[in-house]
Amino acid sequence: MSQLPQAFLTRLKRHFSDEQLLFSEAERYAYGYDNSRQQATPALVVRPATQQQVQQLLELCHEFQLPLVSRGSGTGTAGGAVPLESAIVLSTERLNRIIKIDPANRAMVVEPGVTNAEVQQAAADHGFFWPPDPTSSAVCTIGGNLACNAAGPRAVKYGTPRENVLGLKAVTAEGKLLKTGSYTTKGVVGYDLTRLLIGSEGTLAVITEATLKLTPLPEERVTLRALYTDISSAAEAVSAIMAQPITPSTLEFMDGQALRMIRNARQTDLPDNAQALLMIEVDGPVSSIEQDARKVATRAQNGGCLEVMVADTPAKVEALWSLRKALSPTLRTVAPKKINEDVVVPVSRIPELVNGLQQLGETHHVTIVNFGHAGNGNIHVNLLVNPDDSEEMARADACLAALFSLVLKLEGTLSGEHGIGMVKRDYVSLEIDPVTLELMQRIKLLFDPHGILNPLKKLPAL
Ligand SMILES: Cc1cc2nc3c(=O)[nH]c(=O)nc-3n(C[C@H](O)[C@H](O)[C@H](O)COP(=O)(O)OP(=O)(O)OC[C@H]3O[C@@H](n4cnc5c(N)ncnc54)[C@H](O)[C@@H]3O)c2cc1C
Repeated sequence: MSQLPQAFLTRLKRHFSDEQLLFSEAERYAYGYDNSRQQATPALVVRPATQQQVQQLLELCHEFQLPLVSRGSGTGTAGGAVPLESAIVLSTERLNRIIKIDPANRAMVVEPGVTNAEVQQAAADHGFFWPPDPTSSAVCTIGGNLACNAAGPRAVKYGTPRENVLGLKAVTAEGKLLKTGSYTTKGVVGYDLTRLLIGSEGTLAVITEATLKLTPLPEERVTLRALYTDISSAAEAVSAIMAQPITPSTLEFMDGQALRMIRNARQTDLPDNAQALLMIEVDGPVSSIEQDARKVATRAQNGGCLEVMVADTPAKVEALWSLRKALSPTLRTVAPKKINEDVVVPVSRIPELVNGLQQLGETHHVTIVNFGHAGNGNIHVNLLVNPDDSEEMARADACLAALFSLVLKLEGTLSGEHGIGMVKRDYVSLEIDPVTLELMQRIKLLFDPHGILNPLKKLPAL
């Protein structure tokens, strides 16, 4: 049984039905982890079904100074949804309504527990899509996407949630309802709190409603696969593609280690000398798509390029995507407790980053697998280590420190889309200067005076 104050529980039960409150240890345990593989059992799980219930819960948590963590589907990789300090988990699973689809204004209003895939399906029925598409889209929620500014492959052309949300409703730690943005694609009244809340990882407020900005589905799409003899040639091709005027809608990258994992895990037609792969998509009007794809394909070619192949049937396109989507789970099978970073550098610095990563792996004797959203310079760097091996972990720590200093030297940033959560909190002050950090801490206090929202996450301790 949880150790929550009786007075709190008595008042909570006035607002919630029995089946909205999970008390048993087994049920609470199931809400205590995410894809970081960290676990902490919450004191209680609450499943509100209305915005008013979210406000009532937060008012009580604020009054009793009880920590609270918002949770979507728990697919986050940085421990953001893990309830440290025996926090109460607010699960958004019942806040799962699509409130409105408005094609004339290219907008959709949704509650946070709707999955990304449900949004895409509903938008597609009207000829639209919502650009952010994390590879976990089948299960992850819009609340989680917004809280992490989670993006995915299409961000290279269409941007992240920050560029694709018109406004939000959210509840502050004190239970106050906050409205940000406007129902228009232009608006500059007041400060931009929409962009502040997006990416705040549940540390400032609980998002209860989002007005998403929709984009028309492209008429046509061409999918290409480019193979390279070495990682540097692939990295140089990325810079060359991004330096010309046609923006690909996807520009994904896998290094030689990633290809080796895939060859071991499934049947592929990847030649043995392929040491890097780019998956490129170009979308647009039927009238220009072939010409655009040809221009991009030309830029993908260089001395190290083995082939550029057009996936010319739906089956070939599907095979390429399934290969890309299988990577993360395959790596988890090989190294269940791998360290997973998602650093970003300016696209023109990717060659320096990938060469540096190769050297770091050799220097620290750590197997590093790299893949990711190269068009944004966002590389998922996976250190395949076993946390139970202390000697290996010491080498991994040194390797990580060197990786972060390399990324910052290349004018990059430590996390592109996975967030800071609990696992990267100690590194934030490497990137953010003390003056800016202090201002951020003060903003946190304004939204959350008692520090009850997602404690020990996102920012270093005061
Ligand atoms: C196989 C796999 C592939 C992935 N691919 C990608 C990818 O391509 N791109 C990418 O960016 N990420 C990716 N991710 C990471 C993850 O799926 C995303 O971060 C996703 O947005 C998390 O959504 P969720 O619903 O699971 O959120 P959770 O994990 O439940 O929560 C994530 C964070 O959001 C906060 N939160 C959740 N709901 C709310 C709310 N309503 N209000 C305030 N805060 C809230 C939580 O407190 C937590 O800090 C991947 C994960 C997996 C397992």
